[in-house]
This record gives sequence, C-alpha cells and structure tokens, in this order.
Amino acid sequence: MATMTTANPAAGSTQNTDGAIRFDNVGKRFEQFEAVRDLNLDIRDGELLVLLGPSGCGKTTTLNMLAGLEQPTSGTLYFGDRAMNNVPPEERDIAMVFQSIALYPHLNVRENIGFALKTRRATREQINERINDVVHILDIAQLLDRRIHQLSGGQRQRVAIAKALVRRPGLFLLDEPFSSLDASLRRQMRSELARIHREVETTMVFVTHDQEEAMAIADRIAVMNKGQIEHLGTPLEVYNHPRNLWVAQFIGSHPINVIEAHRDGSAAALLAGSGWSKSFPENFPAHGDFMVGVRPEHVTLTPGGQGDGTLTTEIYTRQILGTDILYELKTGDHILRAVTPTSQVYEVGQPVAIGFNWGDAFLFDKETGAALK
Ligand code: ATP
Repeated sequence: MATMTTANPAAGSTQNTDGAIRFDNVGKRFEQFEAVRDLNLDIRDGELLVLLGPSGCGKTTTLNMLAGLEQPTSGTLYFGDRAMNNVPPEERDIAMVFQSIALYPHLNVRENIGFALKTRRATREQINERINDVVHILDIAQLLDRRIHQLSGGQRQRVAIAKALVRRPGLFLLDEPFSSLDASLRRQMRSELARIHREVETTMVFVTHDQEEAMAIADRIAVMNKGQIEHLGTPLEVYNHPRNLWVAQFIGSHPINVIEAHRDGSAAALLAGSGWSKSFPENFPAHGDFMVGVRPEHVTLTPGGQGDGTLTTEIYTRQILGTDILYELKTGDHILRAVTPTSQVYEVGQPVAIGFNWGDAFLFDKETGAALK
C-alpha cells in the first residue's frame, strides 16, 4: 500500500524534521516479545539510511515507529529536539511507500499524483507545478494521462514514489518498495532512487533484507539482527570492516569463508582447518584460538597445485555467474569458495593451489565473534 501521511503538504511543511532523527535507547515490545531492543541510532538530515537485516529482525517495526504507526515501549524517538513517541502520524510530515502499491485504478497518473494535494486544498497552479516537478524527476511525464491498469509494475512503482514525493515530506519512508519487481527492473529502480535522493535531498529511510540492494543505494546501512543494530556504517565500511562475524556473513554477494584457526607462539604458525593446514604469513597479528573470514573474492587459485601456500585441492563445483565465476573447493571436510574473473577458467576436477589475500582477511574472536582488527 502506498500510504502517505503529512501535516501540511500543500504548504510543503517541514516542521519537526528540521534536522537529525534520533533513537535514544528505543525499545518495542509486543507483549513478551522484544521486537526492537536498546536502539541508539542517529539519522542525519538528508541522508539515505538503509535498515538491512533478515526477516523478523525488527526493520519494519523501526520504520513504523518513525511513521508513528507504532509507539516505542521504552526510550525516546526525537525529530530534531522534539520527542515524538506520542505524536500521531498526521503530525509528522512523512510519506511512506510500501511493497504493495495502492493507487486509485479509476484515476489517471496525473490525478493519482495530485490527489493528496487536491484533498488538502492546494490551488490548481500549485498542484500542476508540483506534479510537473516530480514527474520530471521520475521520468514519467509521458504517462500522465494513462490509467493505472495501463502501466507496468515498474511504472506503477514510480507513480507511487511520485505520489509520495509530490507532498515534499520532511522524511520519506520506504519498506521493501521494489521487492515485487523482477531483477532487472529492481536494479534499475535502485539507481533511480539513488538519483532521486540526490535531487530532492530529503531524508530517506529504506527497509530491505537484500544486502545488494542496501549496498547499491545507501549512504549508510544499519545492519540489524534480532532487534538490534550490529553495525552502522557506509556500504564500504560494513563490507571491508565488518564489526563482527555475523555482519561479515550477512554482507557480501557470496558467502564468506569462515575458518577456525589456531596459532601458537612458535615460528610454526598454522591455520588449522578441518583436515588441512596452511602457514600464516609472518607478522600475522593474532594468536591463540580465533576465527578467520576470507571473502571468496580474496581467495586466489593457481593452476596445477603450485602456488604460494601448501594448500592444494581440486575444483569441486563451478558456477559461471556472468561477470565472474564461483568455485567450490573441498579441503578436508571443509568447502572453501573462491571467485575469479571469467578470464580465469578452471574445469571441475582440475588441481589448484589455494592462496588467501591475507591483507583482506578478517579476524574474529572465537567466543564473541567480535572483529579483532
Ligand atoms: P520482514 O523482513 O519479514 O518484514 P522485519 O525485520 O521487518 O521482518 P518486523 O516486522 O519488524 O521484522 O518484526 C519483528 C518481530 O516482531 C517479528 O518477530 C514479528 O513477528 C514481531 N512483530 C511485529 N509486529 C508484531 C505485532 N503487532 N504483534 C506481535 N509481534 C509482532
């Protein structure tokens, strides 16, 4: 449903949202169940923040608290300096777009986009000016006279976004708005949204469970798990410096290799996999028991069992993915994954030596999963 609420859209009101948004130790309980716990989050004025996490982690509940559709059961939510816990949705100057779109089928695109402004008694001139602005941004000017049933899914989603944006909300909330679209349209809409955000400079909070989508559009990503934020950072920060093992496993197109490791103080430092071992480089920073995370894109393969290390095996499976190739390699009872460019092709069964780009490897505490470097 593309639902929108705003206090005074015709006048382009911006009350309450003149600045940052802050969750101060916010919690949300549904009876005994804690959907959101101790949430501390600053959303910067004008940024596109993505709430990312698996199903049930509390993303929508967090978005609903921003919208005023749910009230926190503990802590305080601020828009600027104003505590918002008990402020109703219609006083929040927000607009929302959801996955399923509610447009009026009996109205054309122009009437749909202008509907909210009309009901708030804006003048015809104001309405037309606003509509022209927004259809230009969304590149749908040629569709203005079409009825909704004459539009494709992507076009409908654009109209839903236009309908929300035309009100010039202070805060724009999007809950998985592209998840019903096919893969190529979804990619297109991602880059459209990033462009629209640059043009309108409105604060946007976007919910998704799709880490690629989050990486593609976010200024910053709040990675959520079980009602809490595991890591808040730019896409490259969460990809290159995940705060813990869970984040490292959740972010990335291909699952990261996670290896239990042990290194004693002696010169004979070994990475102990199950049924295999590999020397650490000199000056490796960790000792004792820990976990190593190596992304498949940081595993190197060398033909013929020759290479930088002692670890050799055969190609176990191969998936050609278009821009690169994903290999699985069986080492003892461990499956390692490696990604190579399509210029580097190995056949299933071919012997290879496995190397790690140690500089890109992550180290995690074995007990807590916290990043060690
Ligand atoms: P999804 O991606 O599946 O939508 P989400 O991360 O958006 O998941 P939420 O919808 O925020 O998750 O739900 C978080 C948890 O709170 C879930 O376990 C859900 O079952 C629970 N929950 C949400 N709303 C209610 C409610 N009204 N009553 C009871 N439990 C609820």
